[in-house]
Amino acid sequence: METPSPASRLAVPAGLAAATAVLTIDLDAIAGNWRAAAACLPPGARAAGVIKADAYGCGARRVLPALAQAGCRDFFVALIDEALAVRDLLPPGGRLFVLSGPPPGAEALMRESGLIPVLNSLEQIHAWARAAREAGTGPAPAAWHVDTGMTRLGLDLGELADLMAAPLPEGLALPVLLMSHLACADDPGHPLTDRQVETFARAHALLPGVPTSLGASSGIFRGPATQGDLVRPGALLYGLNPTPEKPSPVRPVVRLEAKILQGRLLDAPHPVGYGATVTLPAHRRLATVGVGYADGYPRAAGNRGLGVLAGTVVPVVGRISMDLITLDVTEVPPAQVHPGALVELLGPTFDADALAGCAGTIGYEILTGLGRRCLRVYLGGPPDTQEGP
Ligand SMILES: *Cc1c(COP(=O)(O)O)cnc(C)c1O
Repeated sequence: METPSPASRLAVPAGLAAATAVLTIDLDAIAGNWRAAAACLPPGARAAGVIKADAYGCGARRVLPALAQAGCRDFFVALIDEALAVRDLLPPGGRLFVLSGPPPGAEALMRESGLIPVLNSLEQIHAWARAAREAGTGPAPAAWHVDTGMTRLGLDLGELADLMAAPLPEGLALPVLLMSHLACADDPGHPLTDRQVETFARAHALLPGVPTSLGASSGIFRGPATQGDLVRPGALLYGLNPTPEKPSPVRPVVRLEAKILQGRLLDAPHPVGYGATVTLPAHRRLATVGVGYADGYPRAAGNRGLGVLAGTVVPVVGRISMDLITLDVTEVPPAQVHPGALVELLGPTFDADALAGCAGTIGYEILTGLGRRCLRVYLGGPPDTQEGP
């Protein structure tokens, strides 16, 4: 029995008839969005693909080959386990970076697995050098992360300067990538971005000739100063808008549909859902669908989210339950409101960014939370040939 891949672990084996919710992921749109990001770069710069958190919930084992087919060679995950789960799918010449670097004691595993750590601290750098000395086979490639103002991970400029002021410790080579991460690139006027760009330039002056990596989704669309030699788009690949102040430059990727389990026409005013937070008047028509907060639909979107049924926008009424959402479908022709009809809860009309706006969160959190129980359907991309390591 093969170990199921993260992408397929919870697929509903009985298929569409048994599923109450369907999550459709357009792999060709993901590839097209990657190409759109790559097309913003000056000659010589390249785009990686960030596929951490199971490719933002879209399924890393399906997304990696689709990106590779589009020409992507560099991939970023957050954790070693995420890297080990997709390593067999890397294209020839592909590189797999682990953003969190090795936890103490995991250096040898990372070396032996051919993974490239992002070394975020002097401790990680020295441990990486020590692992090379113990292996006796020379330094292994690594990226170095310098903190330029986000104050999360990374060496500060002083630490980098001290490291470079002396000969590198035995077992350490110059990094294959000097990386930093922008805190406010989604906010075009934010002054921190300029400060981070300046600090990053000073860090790079300490390692001349080493390739740089600065921009993630939002940085890519702000021009060369916030890009670097290798950009690291995640969110935009999956259809989130990297420039929230403007219409999105990328295509929608994800569609979440839920089947109507029951419809009803109110004969008198009735309260709806847990807590009876809303009472609807007589003659309203309601439909209850089989998705809830256990599927990643945010509970905070109760009385605020929107669905689409037969081309008509239908508001969520009442609280979101664990497995159920009720919608007011009065505006939809009654013949379209029947058990099994699919209500679109996320799609081009009302996307993850819009749902996030109703729920006080960001599209990233919506996407990474989706799909634990939904039937997943993939559109486009290379055929799914393997089940995983
Ligand atoms: C998650 C992450 C990215 C991708 O960011 P997006 O905004 O999703 O494009 C890039 N770099 C680092 C260090 C990250 O943690």
